Amino acid sequence: MLTVPTTQITAADLLGAALQYAAASIAVVPLHTPDSGGQCSCRGRTDCGSPGKHPRLQHGLHDATTEPDRIRRWWRRWPDANVGVATGTRLDVCDIDTNDGLRAILDLLDIVRPAGPLVRSGYGWHLWFAATGLGNRAGLLPGVDWRGRGGYAVAPPSLHPTGRRYTFQQPFTGPADLPTCPDAVRRLVVAPPPPSPELSAGDGQISDLDRYTQAALEGEVSRILAAPRPVIRGGQRLSAGGRNTALHLAAFRLGQLAARGGIDQHTVWSRLTDAARTVGLGQTETQRTIASGWRAGLRRPRS
Ligand SMILES: [Zn+2]
Repeated sequence: MLTVPTTQITAADLLGAALQYAAASIAVVPLHTPDSGGQCSCRGRTDCGSPGKHPRLQHGLHDATTEPDRIRRWWRRWPDANVGVATGTRLDVCDIDTNDGLRAILDLLDIVRPAGPLVRSGYGWHLWFAATGLGNRAGLLPGVDWRGRGGYAVAPPSLHPTGRRYTFQQPFTGPADLPTCPDAVRRLVVAPPPPSPELSAGDGQISDLDRYTQAALEGEVSRILAAPRPVIRGGQRLSAGGRNTALHLAAFRLGQLAARGGIDQHTVWSRLTDAARTVGLGQTETQRTIASGWRAGLRRPRS
């Protein structure tokens, strides 16, 4: 049973947590530590871009280990070192920076709370999953990154530069707690990057499906941009407008196409998000609407 205390953290708790992760076959690595002013213990090596979040070891992640003796030596040397857990072999982490990011993931999965371990980080959340074998990916959705092969995450009870501790809001008691990554999230992680205009223009390699998808996407975006705005007169809303409906329909129809495969969900979602922002829809509403329309579309593939 892994128990990570949440208050009055001592050096023994940091070492204790590191040893317990290692016992669960999750390799650990000592990270730098922020001081009470949020400054990184690496100071002296000029500006630190990620206080308390990067490895103290010369070879960084390559030295991550599950060997208790090495782990004890490290924390004897740096008793207040934050605990990094290597991702990609036993554990993958969905790293969410914003409330909207969390809501988008939950909406995408059609759930109200994550199935497995849930970590509160400084400003956001980490969802822990069984390793997928996939690599790191930034920006699956706005504010959401994936830590997979070759990555790591800061783990409880490490200290965040804000002065808050990383804490488990839903527990991790061992590898059996790690849920399988849902297909909908996996598809976001493996989605190809948005095509670069220089590479795709005129190289003759764009398939008909890609052209068709691209045309469908452009059509949906222009419908969102053309949707009527709400009519408000004298502080009263006389008509609701059609922006949110247009966005929902667009996500639905593109989701229908995506159900057949071959669509880059990342590109589609970011284009729809941009269009929604342009017409003045709020971020939270936008992510909910896209997720809900997309999900409904996936259930009804277009023939
Ligand atoms: Zn630093």
